[in-house]
Order: sequence, then structure tokens, then C-alpha cells
Amino acid sequence: MKLISLAEVRDKIKNLVQEANFVLQEDVQTALETMEKLEESPAGLEVFRQLKENALIAREEKLGICQDTGLAVFLVEMGEEIQFKKDDGLSSLREAINEGTRQGYAEGYLRKSVVEDPIRRKNTSDNTPAFIHWEVVPGDVFKVTFIAKGGGAENMSAIRMFAPAAGLEGIEDFVVETVDKAGSNPCPPIIVGVGIGGNFEYVAWLAKKALLRRPLGSHHPDPFYAEMERRLLERINKLGIGPQGMGGRVTALAVHVEVFPCHIASMPAAVNIECHAHRVLSFEL
Ligand code: SF4
Repeated sequence: MKLISLAEVRDKIKNLVQEANFVLQEDVQTALETMEKLEESPAGLEVFRQLKENALIAREEKLGICQDTGLAVFLVEMGEEIQFKKDDGLSSLREAINEGTRQGYAEGYLRKSVVEDPIRRKNTSDNTPAFIHWEVVPGDVFKVTFIAKGGGAENMSAIRMFAPAAGLEGIEDFVVETVDKAGSNPCPPIIVGVGIGGNFEYVAWLAKKALLRRPLGSHHPDPFYAEMERRLLERINKLGIGPQGMGGRVTALAVHVEVFPCHIASMPAAVNIECHAHRVLSFEL
């Protein structure tokens, strides 16, 4: 059994949420540089220039890449051979993750974006609770992946329960239609997470996982879905929305697809839209 200190988890989370918000990761920077070469509209090119300058200032001055520092969403992959040491007053892994989030958002002067009730809307003032997805895996792996998920892009996401007869074409049309309807709202150039399969609740998580699991620039390991990703990216970039909705050839930097088995009568699909401020970072202990 591997023993992991909850205080160490808290401290790692505290640093993780800050670094993700201050430093645009290499895969996102590379994707911006690659896609900038395809842009032809002067306004679109100016947006790319500003995004790169913004990322530089954020990194150097330790400022949020965006004022919307997002909900703190975590994927925790936890081996069956792990135990946690309750230390420094922490009694559970959930508490350690929430405490790390609280301390990281406070220390980094990152905006607190969580309300404790969806209707009455009082801010919790510390960006908790964190949104934690747990996956139990074999062995002694302990990996935490964080995404700071801004509200503007999340609001433009969609889910639809298709009958299998809709086929691949039905799903691809739904993805393109969702991006088209979103227009400039999710701060393009965007990243499109697509979930297919599972059931109603699971497909939404698949779409989010599509944003977390793989770095930008990679493709689905199954050539069938890799081809679907390429086709969707091409269709989306023909919509002409362009960087920040200014018009142009680059509306999306990437499309990532995740799939799962499903019921014989269903074909669920979900689209989780992510903005250019793609703040994903992980650590392992
Ligand atoms: S959608 Fe993204 S870039 Fe736009 S305001 Fe929200 S977090 Fe910032």
C-alpha cells in the first residue's frame, strides 16, 4: 500500500490551481501558433497577437490568463493500492482538495466564481466546492487533473439523446450546430470536447473528459474517431466565426472525441465547449 499525505495533496492543489491560471501550457501555445498561420483575417490575426501577449503578461506577472478563473473541476484517478494519511487537521481527500482550492484561489488573488445556491446566488467567497470526478484505477497510481472551467464557454455546451438511426452524420451536424449557435460567446478560438455513448449523465462527463485527457495536437487513438475529429475541425473552421467572433478561418483549435458503450436503443451525444483560455494541469504522487 502506498501512503499519501493529505497535507501534501492540499499543498499540491494549492500550487496547481495557481499555475494553471497563470501559465498557458505548451500544448495550447503551440496550437495557437499553428492555427495562427492559417488565419487570414486582419482582425483575427490581431486577436492571436493579443492572446499571445496576454499569456506572456499572465505568466510574468502571475495574473490570471482570464478574469473568469473558473469552477475548479478535478479528475482524480486513484489506485486501489493507496491509503491516505490524515494529517494537518485534514480528515478526507475531498477536504484536502477543497482546502487546496480555497488556499490557491485566495493566495493567487483569483476570482471566486461559485454561488452556494443556483437560484439565490450567494457567493461562497472561496471558489469551493470543487467539482470532483473520481475514477478508481488498478495499482498505486494517484493522478489529479485540474481544469479551470469558465462560465462563458460552459454555458454554450449542449447534450442530446439521439436514436441510433441518427448515425454519425446526425452527431456531427449536432456538434457543428452547437458551435455555430454559440458564436462569439465562448471566446473563440475554442476547443470542442465531444462525448458519444454512455447514458444521459455519463455522456456529459465524457465531453468534459475529452478536454482533460489529451494534450492539444493529439488525436483519438482509434483512426475512425481521429478522422471524425479532423472532419469536425474542418467543418467548424468553415463557419467563419473566427477569433473572438471577428470573422476568419480559425474558430476552433481542436476537436477531441471520447466514446463509451451505450444502450442498444440510444446514442447520447454531448458537446462541452472550452475557450482559448484552456487551463488544464495535472500532478501525480
Ligand atoms: S469563456 Fe474563457 S476566455 Fe471567455 S471569459 Fe470565460 S474563461 Fe475567459
